[in-house]
Amino acid sequence: MREKIFAGNWKMNKTLAETEAFLQEFVNYPGIGRGHQVLFFPPFTALVLMKELIGSVPIQWGSQNMHSKDSGAFTGEISPLMLAELGCSHVLIGHSERREIFGESDAMVAEKIAAAHKHGFKPMVCVGETLEERKGGQADVKVLRQVDSALADLTAEQAARQSFAYEPIWAIGTGLNASSGDAQTMCALIRKRVTEKVSEDVSAAMPILYGGSVKPGNIAEYLQQPDIDGALVGGASLKPDSFLEIIKNALGDLFGQVAN
Ligand code: PEP
Repeated sequence: MREKIFAGNWKMNKTLAETEAFLQEFVNYPGIGRGHQVLFFPPFTALVLMKELIGSVPIQWGSQNMHSKDSGAFTGEISPLMLAELGCSHVLIGHSERREIFGESDAMVAEKIAAAHKHGFKPMVCVGETLEERKGGQADVKVLRQVDSALADLTAEQAARQSFAYEPIWAIGTGLNASSGDAQTMCALIRKRVTEKVSEDVSAAMPILYGGSVKPGNIAEYLQQPDIDGALVGGASLKPDSFLEIIKNALGDLFGQVAN
C-alpha cells in the first residue's frame, strides 16, 4: 500500500512573515503528517524558515526548481548545494510553468533530475499536456515522451526515489480540474511506462500524484483511484485551512492514524 502524499506548491507566493504565519497554524494541527506524507514547495527565500518552524513535526519540504550545476556563472539560479544546506528532501522538477514560461526542455529537465539524484534529493517530476494536445489526441504521446526523458538516464535505484505529478496544463490554476477517470487513465499509463522502462517493483512503489485545481471538494474522488497516490496542490495549499481540509477529506477516518 503506497503512502498518500499531499504536496503544496506555493509558487511565487508568501513572504517570510506569511510563511511564518502559515506554518505556526499548520504544524499545530494534531495528527498532521502521521500515516500520510505532507510536503511543501515554498519559494526559495522561505526555505530558510522551514527547518526552524517545522521542527520535529513529520512534514518535508523541497524547492520548486534547481539548477543542474553546483556553482558558477548562472546569475539568478540556485544550486543543489545551497538547497541541501536548507534541509530539502525533494525538488520539484519540470513544473509546466518552468517548461512553458521559462523554456525548460525535456533535456534541461533530465539534467536537473540527474543533478537532484547526485545530491540525494527526491525529484518530483511534473508532466502534462496542453488543451490543444488533449483535443488533438496527443495527450498520451506528450506525457509519455516527458516520462521517457525523465527516466532515460536513471538507474533503478534512482528511479525508485523519484515520483511523478501528472498535471494537465489546462487544469492548473483554472478551476477546470481533470475528471478523476481521465486522471486515473493517465496515471495508470505513466505507471505502466515505469514498469516497461524500469521494473515492476519500482513502478508498484512509485508515488504518482495528480495536480490541477485540486480543492477540498474534489480531492476524495482522485484518491479513490488505484493509481493516484496524492495531489500536488497550488492555490488551495496557500491557506492552512483549505490544505488541511484537502488532507482530511482525502483520508477520512484514517487522518492522523499510523498503520501498524
Ligand atoms: C500547481 O501549481 O502545480 C497546481 C496544480 O496549481 P493549482 O492547484 O492551483 O491548479
